Amino acid sequence: MRINFFLTITFLLCLNAIKSLAQEATKPNFVLIVADDLGYADLGFTGSRQIYTPNIDRLAKQGVNCLQGYVSSSVSSPSRAGFITGKNQVSFGHDNNIGGSQLGFDPDFLGLPLTEVTIADRLKELGYATGLIGKWHLGDEPHFHPLKRGFDEFWGYTGGGHDYFRDLPEGKGYLSPIECNYKTPQAITYITDDKGDECVDFIKRHKENPFFLFASFNAPHAPMQATEADLELYTHIKDEKRRTYCAMIHRLDVNVGRILDTIEKEDLDENTLIVFISDNGGPVSDNGSINAPYNGQKGTLLEGGIRVPFLMKWSGRLPAGKIYSYPVISLDFAPTFMYEASGAVANEYDFDGVNLIPYLTGENILPPHASLNWRFTISAAIRDGDWKLIRLPDRLPMLYNLVDDISEQDDVAIENMERTKSMLKDLGSWDIRQPHPVFLEGPIWRANQVSLYDRKYQLEQPQ
Ligand code: CA
Repeated sequence: MRINFFLTITFLLCLNAIKSLAQEATKPNFVLIVADDLGYADLGFTGSRQIYTPNIDRLAKQGVNCLQGYVSSSVSSPSRAGFITGKNQVSFGHDNNIGGSQLGFDPDFLGLPLTEVTIADRLKELGYATGLIGKWHLGDEPHFHPLKRGFDEFWGYTGGGHDYFRDLPEGKGYLSPIECNYKTPQAITYITDDKGDECVDFIKRHKENPFFLFASFNAPHAPMQATEADLELYTHIKDEKRRTYCAMIHRLDVNVGRILDTIEKEDLDENTLIVFISDNGGPVSDNGSINAPYNGQKGTLLEGGIRVPFLMKWSGRLPAGKIYSYPVISLDFAPTFMYEASGAVANEYDFDGVNLIPYLTGENILPPHASLNWRFTISAAIRDGDWKLIRLPDRLPMLYNLVDDISEQDDVAIENMERTKSMLKDLGSWDIRQPHPVFLEGPIWRANQVSLYDRKYQLEQPQ
C-alpha cells in the first residue's frame, strides 16, 4: 500500500516535471529590434528608391507589415518608456525626453519611474533570459540602470546616443565607455557592427532557454558617421549628410540580417517573435531622413513623428507577407509578449496595449484600439477611426482625415466643427486625468516643437 502510494506520487511528480519542461520548451523567444530616428520612407519595403535594405525587407516579406504602426511618442525616451512597460508613458509622468534636470524637479526622478514594471522584469520572472544590447535612455542614475529594470545582461550605454567609432574610459555623453556586465567589453569597431556581434552572441548563448533580446541600435541617429566602405556604396548621392545616412542604414540592415540569419541557423525561427520598429520618426534636418508620404518629423505629432515602420514576424504563428491595416501601437508589444509567454495577462498590469497576435492572424477582425492618445511637451493628439486631431497652444486644433489625406495637408477642423469639438473633448478629458510630468525639458523645446509644425516637409520619395 505504502509503496504504491510513493510510486504514484513519484509518477505524478515526474509527469509534472515533464509537463513544465514541455511548457518551457514551447515558450516563444522575443527579439525587439529598434532603430533610432529612422525616416519612414528610408527602407526598401516602405518605398525607398535610394536605400537598399534587403534584410529588413525580408522581415516584411516573412512577417506582418503594420501599415498604421505608431509609437507612443515622437521622441526617444518617452517612446521607449511606453513600449518597455506597455503603458502610455504619460500615465506615469514620463511625457518628455530626458534632457537635463529643470529647476524645481528632483534629478532622482529623471528616468523611468521606479513605480513601473518593464517587460524585461515580467519575462525574467517567467524564467526568460533578458538582454539589452545598445541604447537605454531611460535614466542615467544608478537606480534606473537596466540591470535593475529586469535585464540580466547589458552591453551598451545609458544615454540617448553614442559615437559610432569610439568611447573613452572617462568619456561623457556620446563618448561614454561601453558598459557590459558579462565580459570586458571589446573596443568599438563600428558600433552598429559591435551591437550585431553582441546580439548574435546573446542568441547563441541562450538558445536552449526562452529569451528576450532588446536589440537597441542607435542607427541612424546623429552623429552622422559611417564607414568608408559603406559610404562608397552611396557615392552617387551628392548631399553628404544624406549619403552618410544611407550608409548608416545599410550597416543597420546588414546587422538586422545577421540577427535573422542566427535565428534561422539555430533553428529558432518557428518559436521566435521578431519585431522591428523605429523609436520615432526621422528628424529631417538632423540626419537627412525622409518621412514621405507623411508630413512632419521627429518631435511632432504629425504622422511623420509617430507613424513608423512596424514589422512583426513569427514563422510559427503569423502569416507571411501580410499587410495589416488597422492602427496598432508599440504599447502592444509588452501585452503581446506577456500573453504569448504566460497564456494570460492579468488586469492588474494595466497595459494600454493589447495582445496583437489574434488580430494579426485574422482570428479577431475588429480594430485593436477604439482610439489612441498622445501627449508630448506642448502638443497632444487623438486618433479616432480615420480621423486625427492635433492640439497646439498657438493655433486652432487641426483635424485630418487620414484616409483622404495621408499627408495631413488639408486641415478640415472648421468644416467638421462637431467632430472637432467632440474629439477635442475626448482628448481633453483624457489629458486632464493624467499626472504631472515627473521631469521636463528646457523651456526652449516648447518653442522648438511649435516651429516644427510650420515647416514644409518632403512628401515624395527621392529618385
Ligand atoms: Ca529616437
